[in-house]
Amino acid sequence: MHITIVGAGYVGLTTGVCLAAKGHAVWLVEQMPDRIATIKDGKVPFYEPGLEDLLKQVLQNGNLVVTSDLASSVERSDATFIAVGTPNLNDNIDLSQVIQAALTIGKCLRKNKYHVVVVKSTVVPGTTDGVVRETLEEGSGLTAGDFGLCMNPEFLREGTAVEDFMDPDRIIIGQWDEQSGKVASSLYEQFSCPIITTTLRNAELVKYSSNALLSVLISFSNEIASICENLPGTDVETIMNGLHLDRRLSPIVNQKRVSPQILSYLRAGCGFGGSCLPKDVNALRAFARSIDVSTPLLDATIKVNINRGGQIVDLLEKSLGSLADRTVAVLGLAFKPDTDDLRESPALKIIAQLEAKHAKVRAYDPMVQERVPALAKTTFNICKTADEVYANADALVIATGWKEFKELDWQEVANKMRTPLILDGRRLLSSKNMPAKIILQSIGVANDQNTHSKADLQESARK
Ligand code: NAD
Repeated sequence: MHITIVGAGYVGLTTGVCLAAKGHAVWLVEQMPDRIATIKDGKVPFYEPGLEDLLKQVLQNGNLVVTSDLASSVERSDATFIAVGTPNLNDNIDLSQVIQAALTIGKCLRKNKYHVVVVKSTVVPGTTDGVVRETLEEGSGLTAGDFGLCMNPEFLREGTAVEDFMDPDRIIIGQWDEQSGKVASSLYEQFSCPIITTTLRNAELVKYSSNALLSVLISFSNEIASICENLPGTDVETIMNGLHLDRRLSPIVNQKRVSPQILSYLRAGCGFGGSCLPKDVNALRAFARSIDVSTPLLDATIKVNINRGGQIVDLLEKSLGSLADRTVAVLGLAFKPDTDDLRESPALKIIAQLEAKHAKVRAYDPMVQERVPALAKTTFNICKTADEVYANADALVIATGWKEFKELDWQEVANKMRTPLILDGRRLLSSKNMPAKIILQSIGVANDQNTHSKADLQESARK
């Protein structure tokens, strides 16, 4: 099939490359000239494992064409995906990119050629059959039905985007009418997962419900962690391990325990971030309010998340005393490992809290520092290597769970830091594997159980 995709971000580029790899002819339309040039050159403008190899293949075999020319792309296609950003504006969804894209697409629709417009961006219920349909009708002078309209939410995760797209758990297709749904479903003929064909609003709400559930689980785990941090004799990891062993969460199949991936959201950490969870929970909450529905659970989920960075900084302050003029090294900037995405990153929130307490912050992230020029504007120092970040630091905070941090030479870290206090915000480290000199403080554990006391710290600083 011939497909146009509007927007070459994480979702649009991955969708375009993967559908081209499945044999469709794809026109990927982007508005940023630099991004177009980068992609045409076979490079992915962000870090996403596996995507660049596949991009090179589909550029070479001609299945993917990157362009700024939306009109001629739509004219040559059977379907157009809208995969532009839907950020938050004052905690509400900002649909301006979607509306702009729909207006331009509308102008390209013709009465004598059936064309299906598919909304892939995450949009609140009622958007596709509301403002998107109206804008397409206004731009084209046609009526929905003359053109097709679908909503097909995307569930890929950054860091595993190609794998998630190619082997999805489910494909949800919301349809304006049967004909639209048939065209959209036929795009996915080669996929073996269940395809749910439903109403446009159900498709929109499945995506929000799924992100809201993940956010609730994370905030629940962090709330239990903060109880543990204030309750001697408890450790959130032990509690979560005990909770995971409930057969309803980790069933025993063929006498073997299965550990579903959902359990990774029932772990304590620094809070949820990224381009989706915070903005989607906020948007869902605002949408519910707009139809006079209160959302106390979502309100609490966001509140717990906002407070988490401060709780982690408080833990550090309890151990180290005043943070003013202390040098704090932060390992990790991205919102999670295997991505360079900084949007709503908990690491940045922790850094802001540290700076509010007048700490001097240095940070290192394996991927972010070379990829994201926006960091040039930061108030903290960005180091090129991990050893640069911890040299002579008074404390080190692990804010992103990159695997390589686990494998650091911790003896070397202990030797180079002024005070070898490590605050493990991701529960990457175990005190059993740490050199004696390291003072390891883990989140989700009361101070008495962490392997240090103020006396230890002072003693260590003297050495
Ligand atoms: P993004 O901001 O990374 O990319 C959007 C791209 O669209 C940008 O490159 C922008 O320049 C381009 N664009 C905007 N308007 C355009 C226009 N009129 N013509 C051409 N190009 C245009 O966004 P993203 O992270 O890819 O997310 C896209 C949507 O998918 C959002 O609604 C998001 O919530 C949803 N989503 C994102 C993820 C994720 O992990 N990032 C996962 C699932 C769903």
